[in-house]
Amino acid sequence: MKRFVVGEDRDQQVLLPPSLEDYVGEDNPVRVVDAFVDELDLRELGFASVDPRATGRPAYHPSVLLKIYIYGYLNRIQSSRRLEREAGRNIELMWLTGHLAPDFKTIANFRKDNGQAIQSVCSQFVSLCRELGLFAKAVAAIDGSKFKAVNARERNHTRGKLKRRIDQVEKSILRYLQSLDAADAQDGDVAEGKASNLREKVALMKAKLRELKSREAEVIAHPDKQISQTDPDARAMSTSMKASGMVGYNIQAAVDAQHHLIVAHEVTNAPHDRAFLSPMAAKAKAAMDAQEIEVLADRGYFSGQQIKACEELGAVPLVPKPNTSGSRAAGRFDKSQFTYEEEQDVYRCPADEELIHRFTTEEKGLGLGAYWSSACPDCKIRSSCTTSKYRRIKRWEHEGVVDDMLARLDNRPDAMTIRRQTVEHVFGTLKSWMGPCHFLTKGIKNVATEMSLSVLAYNIKRLITIFGAKPLIAAIRA
Ligand code: SF4
Repeated sequence: MKRFVVGEDRDQQVLLPPSLEDYVGEDNPVRVVDAFVDELDLRELGFASVDPRATGRPAYHPSVLLKIYIYGYLNRIQSSRRLEREAGRNIELMWLTGHLAPDFKTIANFRKDNGQAIQSVCSQFVSLCRELGLFAKAVAAIDGSKFKAVNARERNHTRGKLKRRIDQVEKSILRYLQSLDAADAQDGDVAEGKASNLREKVALMKAKLRELKSREAEVIAHPDKQISQTDPDARAMSTSMKASGMVGYNIQAAVDAQHHLIVAHEVTNAPHDRAFLSPMAAKAKAAMDAQEIEVLADRGYFSGQQIKACEELGAVPLVPKPNTSGSRAAGRFDKSQFTYEEEQDVYRCPADEELIHRFTTEEKGLGLGAYWSSACPDCKIRSSCTTSKYRRIKRWEHEGVVDDMLARLDNRPDAMTIRRQTVEHVFGTLKSWMGPCHFLTKGIKNVATEMSLSVLAYNIKRLITIFGAKPLIAAIRA
């Protein structure tokens, strides 16, 4: 062992530091958790069992269990069983809890029974960030990401998946029946054995078919037209990876562009982001306590109604328009090549003709104006424009709001880079902390609690990086 660093002899008598306090450095993040929880009014936040029961075995104070959970999520120990083990051997946790080691059931029940209060603690930390003046810029990036639920893909059923499976089983039954006919036509023990084997297979397949058809009826009757057997609230969702999907939740987050703190989040089981621009902008605005905020989001959030709703609540959205034009895909002029002239309420086309407003109709609750030009039938470039006699353009009655936003976006070429740099790494970090299975609990209520703990841990880590543990503790206690 020469020329290697050598440890001490295990039998060597040593004098360990006399108190737990000596093991935890002044700038240890565990001290931030301790200071933050000690400053909370747990009764006001809605925690159960803040007051001790008059009789029975004394319970753990909620602050002890809350500290254990926050410490756990800060250190990627989310499971109650692992936290029970850590509480008995981890010196930082011993320091934090005063050497208390609740059993895993007590730890798990605390998270299950205090979901709403734990979510309020997460909001309370955002309020602390606001009081520290970290949201002065009032710019937030909004994004959504899919997180895996405790539900295997095989235990999620949609009509499409069931139809494919029913087809496969029906084809198998047909194949077995044909083989059975062939076996019945032969004599001898071997043929008889084969036929009996095939009859068993047909019976099994018919039972499977009955089960699939009964599940199909359940799926049809379900409001969301799908069933998840392990976590009933989880939904099948497509991901950005080609031809891949997962059963999980769509987590929405608004992240402050200056310090990259998560100011608001929401756990949803909606497969798309389209309906969440204004709700997330409203949450971010309230959390940042700003008169007006700028919100940056990707194409998935583009919705005229959502953009209008954002502006009405005092948020200025910047969302690029998706390229979904069928005309462009077919090599013809798309709508962006037609210029709207507001004063005359006409569109000007690539052939410099005016498309006049003809009438307004209502489609899916939206007032849409129809425009076309009488010059279309004789137009020399009509084949590059339309396959019909006239090229018709539709305009939403509030399209001006969208046009103004797109003009603003043209003047902010860095907006989408800022959005990407602000919010995308946050989801990557959260997922890597949560491990391959993302959530450990079932049901949207419990998943929302888990997510709040992850967000709180993320924000605490960010704030420690920004301030340092000691100044942060001083700011919490101020
Ligand atoms: S077809 Fe009609 S709308 Fe299209 S370029 Fe010609 S005149 Fe304009």
